[in-house]
Amino acid sequence: MMQCHLPETPPETGRMSVTLRRWIIERSLASRVGHIGSALSIVEIMAALWGRILRSPASGLADRDRFVLAKGHAALALYAAMHYQGLLDEETFNSFCADGSLLGVHPERGLPGVEAATGSLGQGLSVACGLAYALKRRRSPARVFVVLSDAECNEGQVWEAASFAAHHALDNLAAVIDLNGMQAMGQTRAILNMAPMADRWRAFGWHASDVDGHDEAALGAALDDSTGRGQPVVLVAHTVLGKGVSFMENQLEWHYRNLTPELADQALEELGSRS
Ligand SMILES: [Mg+2]
Repeated sequence: MMQCHLPETPPETGRMSVTLRRWIIERSLASRVGHIGSALSIVEIMAALWGRILRSPASGLADRDRFVLAKGHAALALYAAMHYQGLLDEETFNSFCADGSLLGVHPERGLPGVEAATGSLGQGLSVACGLAYALKRRRSPARVFVVLSDAECNEGQVWEAASFAAHHALDNLAAVIDLNGMQAMGQTRAILNMAPMADRWRAFGWHASDVDGHDEAALGAALDDSTGRGQPVVLVAHTVLGKGVSFMENQLEWHYRNLTPELADQALEELGSRS
């Protein structure tokens, strides 16, 4: 049976995403920490999850929905979404990557809403499987959502976890693949081609579908429709590295590169004009 958790009046599509992009640029500049392109490519995924889908994610309640950012290097997008939802105050959000801050380059346990320390690619899905399995065993209505990078699917551990999830019919588990076609050292299809991605997941027993990863409403609808199928669900979200900033889009250097004040101004000007 399908469940419906979407609010009767969905949030204004796009507004949260534009704000998240602006904050990612501002905090990246202030902290001089990169991974900007990777954070920008998952903005709509974060907006759909944190703005529409997740129930009580940072509450500590036993039946809260769980979220795991397997591609932990995009943590700034997660922190921005939590800040937007009022789950991180201004001072904490602005402490990103400062000495002693809970907001590191990668998510850390200790910050409410972060279920696992991630960033060692390939491990997040296994953690999500464990959470989903435990919740299912005690008949919790909570769901588990995990966001992976496309290159992360090169890791063998991902497919061991995928097999586990299908074997145990973890229909409370939904994965989103951020298919931006890029990884740290080049194009994913040139380094280790995983296409056709959705077919691979189907072969491992998952319900897989392709979705526009920058269509927040489509992502929200697909995620809302992800339970009750008797099998885990994966969305292959087609995205663009550096989405929203013209000089970053599909440019590999923005996996790591830091902003200058001039480039940050240019990015913010573009984002402002697109809102
Ligand atoms: Mg990628």
